[in-house]
Amino acid sequence: MTSDRMPDAKFKLYIERKVRNTIRKYKLFSKTDKVGVAVSGGKDSTTLLYVLNKLGYDVEAITIDAAIGNYTKQNLENLKKVCKKHDVKLDVISFREEFGMSLCYIRDMLKSKGHEYSSCKICGILKRYLLNKHSRRLKFDCLATGHNLDDQAQSIVMNLFRNDFTLMMRQGPVSGVVSSKKFVKRVKPLYLISEEEIVRYSKLMKFPVNYGICPCSTGAYRRDYINMLDGFEKKNPHVKYNIIKFHEQMAANMIKKKGIEVGQCKKCGEPASRDVCKVCEILKSLSK
Ligand code: SF4
Repeated sequence: MTSDRMPDAKFKLYIERKVRNTIRKYKLFSKTDKVGVAVSGGKDSTTLLYVLNKLGYDVEAITIDAAIGNYTKQNLENLKKVCKKHDVKLDVISFREEFGMSLCYIRDMLKSKGHEYSSCKICGILKRYLLNKHSRRLKFDCLATGHNLDDQAQSIVMNLFRNDFTLMMRQGPVSGVVSSKKFVKRVKPLYLISEEEIVRYSKLMKFPVNYGICPCSTGAYRRDYINMLDGFEKKNPHVKYNIIKFHEQMAANMIKKKGIEVGQCKKCGEPASRDVCKVCEILKSLSK
């Protein structure tokens, strides 16, 4: 029986089992690990936090407040409710405290200095940096993110179309192919669960989440890939699943044997694939 035909109670169990089986299959973490969960207030990360907590893992939530007006405020309120209800510690890391300004201000400052970065590009770089730095401080054994099967399939195809082999190979249930003592292993327990399944689960569970789009979203490029893959999937079910399985086989053969080494940024000491990391580049541009 396909999951969309399952009665609600059976469907909930199916999702929870699938998360548990993914964790076991890819050896993501164990019950003795302290698992940080990167939460945004959206359906994916809220589902992830809830299910991991329900399955008895030692979880702690971490969120990055990029100060995107009411959108961030609403997400933070929702996250506080969820964490309080399920007795999970929530760490809030703020752009204003870390960088002295909000995401929109950083974007506008960069633009005024001639650097045309999209909000999502800056946001992604700075959030990844903060998540890794604070996961280390909080002594997480790994950091779980809410990426689902659709996100993974889109990222693989996008990197293929951009001819970015290294980035494509970094996709997968464990981002630990990047080996560095300073890099906290990132894991994706929702890796085999589709977007549609997450939406259904989140609505069934009545999670207080924001289903809207971030007002700063500049995801038009990704939207093209979403539409393209959704179109294929309608005609050929399992296309997205086949993409991530194909990628898994490539990664197993070509990368996992060796791993990808990264160095350290000469300025801040965080993991970086070049001499000076992108975060330091952005901060330098802001101070000029
Ligand atoms: S949509 Fe873009 S700007 Fe908004 S939170 Fe996500 S990455 Fe950041």
